[in-house]
Amino acid sequence: MSTRVVDVLVPVALDQAYSYRVPAGTELVPGDVVTVPLGNREALGVVWADNPNPNPRLHNRLKDIGDKLDVPPLKPELRQFVDWVSGYTLASRGMVLRMALRMGEHLGPARERAGVRLAGPPPQRMTPARARVLSLLGDGFVRAKGDAARESGVSAGVIDGLIDEGTLATVVLPPEPLTRPPDPDFRKPDFSLGQLAAADALRTTVAQGGYTVTLLDGVTGSGKTEVYFEAVAENIRRKRQTLILMPEIALTVGFLDRFSDRFGARPAEWHSQLQPRKRARTWAAVAANEVEAIVGARSALFLPYADLGLIIVDEEHDPAYKQEDGAHYHARDMAVVRGSIVKIAVVLASATPSVESEVNARRGRYRRIHLPERFGGAHLPQVEPIDLRREGPPRGRFISPRLAEAVQISLERKQQALLFLNRRGFAPLTLCRACGFRLQCPNCDAWLVDHRFKRRLICHHCGFNMPQPNECPKCHATESFAPVGPGVERLEQEAAELFPQARILVLSSDLVESVERLRAELDDVAQGRFDLVIGTQLVAKGHHFPKLNLVGIVDADLGLGNGDPRAAERTFQLLHQVVGRAGREEGRGVGLLQTHQPEHPVMRALILGDREAFYRNEIELRERTGYPPFGRLASLVISANERHAAESYGRSLVALAPKEETVRVLGPAEAPIAVVRGRHRFRLLVKSPRDFNLSNYLRHWLSAAPKPKGSLQLAVDIDPQSFF
Ligand code: ADP
Ligand code: ZN
Repeated sequence: MSTRVVDVLVPVALDQAYSYRVPAGTELVPGDVVTVPLGNREALGVVWADNPNPNPRLHNRLKDIGDKLDVPPLKPELRQFVDWVSGYTLASRGMVLRMALRMGEHLGPARERAGVRLAGPPPQRMTPARARVLSLLGDGFVRAKGDAARESGVSAGVIDGLIDEGTLATVVLPPEPLTRPPDPDFRKPDFSLGQLAAADALRTTVAQGGYTVTLLDGVTGSGKTEVYFEAVAENIRRKRQTLILMPEIALTVGFLDRFSDRFGARPAEWHSQLQPRKRARTWAAVAANEVEAIVGARSALFLPYADLGLIIVDEEHDPAYKQEDGAHYHARDMAVVRGSIVKIAVVLASATPSVESEVNARRGRYRRIHLPERFGGAHLPQVEPIDLRREGPPRGRFISPRLAEAVQISLERKQQALLFLNRRGFAPLTLCRACGFRLQCPNCDAWLVDHRFKRRLICHHCGFNMPQPNECPKCHATESFAPVGPGVERLEQEAAELFPQARILVLSSDLVESVERLRAELDDVAQGRFDLVIGTQLVAKGHHFPKLNLVGIVDADLGLGNGDPRAAERTFQLLHQVVGRAGREEGRGVGLLQTHQPEHPVMRALILGDREAFYRNEIELRERTGYPPFGRLASLVISANERHAAESYGRSLVALAPKEETVRVLGPAEAPIAVVRGRHRFRLLVKSPRDFNLSNYLRHWLSAAPKPKGSLQLAVDIDPQSFF
C-alpha cells in the first residue's frame, strides 16, 4: 500500500504547494492546518489538496507532515478565496494564505482565570481596605480576582494577603467568553419612513439569501449605520456570522458602543493592534462559530469564518481599504469577491461612493438603496468658498479673517468648530532664511516635517527623525530656520492666539498614543468638552459630534495638485465627509472652504451641494480617458539601491512586454518620490480596456522576464490607488 501524499501551502512568498507524506494513522482532510518541515525549520501550513500521483522519483525524498492543529479545517470557500486573490493581485498564494493564518502562536485553550470567594475567619489584622473586600464578597458570590480588587477599590496585593491568611479561597473560573451573543431585538430604533423602507429592503435582501451587492448610498447623518444594523439583525436571526469592515481602527472606537446599544453586546474586533492572545482567541472563535459579529480592518476578510452570512463595508470609498504592502489588494473589491464565492449579501455604505461603485450602481450591477435626508430633519451644511486670492489671511497666517470671524461667532454661541487640515506636524518644510537650504531626509526624496509637539523633524516616508539642528548644515548660520507652510500643530498656535479662551484639541494620527486614549478624546469632543477641534483626516470620517456646527477647510486645494488620476475624487470625498460633520443635530451647519480655485468642478459641486454634478463630470472624464472603472490599470514599481539599476531593469521589462494592441505600457518614469529609504524608484503604468484580463497578461509577461536580482525589487499593484 502506498503512502498518501498531500500538497501543503505554506505562508511564505511562494506560489506552489509542497508535497508531504501523511504518516500512517494521521487523518487529514484538505483545509487542515498542520506543521511541516520546511528547510531546516518547522512551518505552519494548510493541506491544499490530495496529490494522487506524486512524482515517483521524488516520492522517497518527501518529508512527513508534523502535527495537525486542533482547529477546524479552512473551508473550501476560504481556500478558493486565497487562490482568487492571489490570481488577481499576483501576490504569491503563500503570502495571501499568510493573511488567513494570522492567529499567532497562542492557539490552544483559553486561559482559565483565578477567582476568589469568602472561605475562612476574618483576618487577624483588619484594615479599611480588607474590610471593603470582605463586605463585597459577603454576598457569597465568586468573583474573578481582578474584579474583586477593582470593585472594592483595593490593590491585588490586598486580595493576595487575604488568601494567604485563609480568609479567601481561590477558585478556578472558566475563561471569559470573547463576546456575548448579540440580541437582534435588543433595542429597535424608531425609523423615519425613508429609513424604514431602506431597512426593509436590506432585511429582505439578507433574508432571501444568495449573492447580492447593495450600495447603501445615504447623505452624511442619514443613519446608514442604524439602517444596515437591520441587515445585521436579520443575519443574526438566521444564526449566521456578520463581518463589518471599517477602513481604520479610529472608526471602530465609537462603533463598538453603538453596536452594543443596538444589540446589547459588543462585537468581536479584529485589527493589527489586538493583543496576541486575544488575536488567537478571536481567530479560533470565528472558526468555531462562537462569534456572531466581528468588526474589523481589511485583514478581517481573511478570517476562517465558520458560516459567514453578510459582509458590510462601511465608508466603502475610503482609500485606507487598499493595502499597499505585502499583497496589494483592495478590501472593498475583495469583499465583493468573497461575497460572490460564499453567495451572500454584501452591503457597501457611503455618503460619497467610489466612482467604481457609483458606476456599478448606475449600470445595475449593484442595487442601490438611497437615504436622501438627514435623520431628524437636520439640514445638510451650507458650503461657502473663501477665495484665497482675494480674502486670504495675513502673511505667515493660515486662517482668513472671514473664517476667524465665523469661529469667533461659533465660540460665542457655545457651539463647536472644526478646522480641517490634512497635514500632520507643525510645518511640512523647514528652510534656512540665510541661504535657502531645505532640511531633507537623508534616505528619501522628501522634506523633513517639523513636529513641535515631539520636538523632532520627521520623515513621513521612512520615519527618520532628528532634533532641529542648531545651525544650518550649509551656511552655518544660527537661528536661521523658518517653518514653511502649515500643519495642524502650527494651526493650533495660530488659533490659540486668535481665540485665547477656546478649549482647543488637536487630533492627528501621530499624536494618538493608544486606541483607548483616542476613544476618550473623541468622546470628550462629542460631550462638548472642547470648543475648537483642529484635525487631519482622522476626524473626517464617521464620527458624530452633536455640537459641531462649523467646519473650516484650511486648504481645500491640498489634494488636487498631485497628478493622481483619483485626485478629484479623493478631494471631493474627503471634503464632503469633513463638511458633513457639521450640523448633524441642531442648527444649520456651515462649511467654509479656503481655496485658490473656487471655480474648480470639485469646489463647485461642494459649494452647490450638487453631488450629481461631481459624479457626472468625473464619470464622463474617466470614460473619455479610459481610466478606471472604464479601463484597467496596473502599476509596477521597481526599486534598487542604485538609480541606474532600477531604471535599466524597468527598460528591460518594457522591452519584454507582450505585444497586445489594446494594452499600453507607460514608462519607466522616475516615481514622484524618487527615493524612499535609500532606494531609487521607477514606475511603469500599464493600461488596458476593462474587459481585458490584465492579471493574466502581467503574469505571462513577468514569468518570461528576468527575476529581479541583488537589491532590485519589483512590486506589482493591480488597481493602484496611490501614485507617489
Ligand atoms: P451616517 O452614517 O449616515 O452619517 P449615522 O448612522 O451615524 O449616519 O446616524 C447619524 C446620527 O443619527 C447618529 O447619532 C444616529 O444614532 C442617529 N440616528 C439615525 N437614525 C436614527 C433613528 N432612526 N433613531 C434615532 N437616532 C437615529
Ligand atoms: Zn525618509
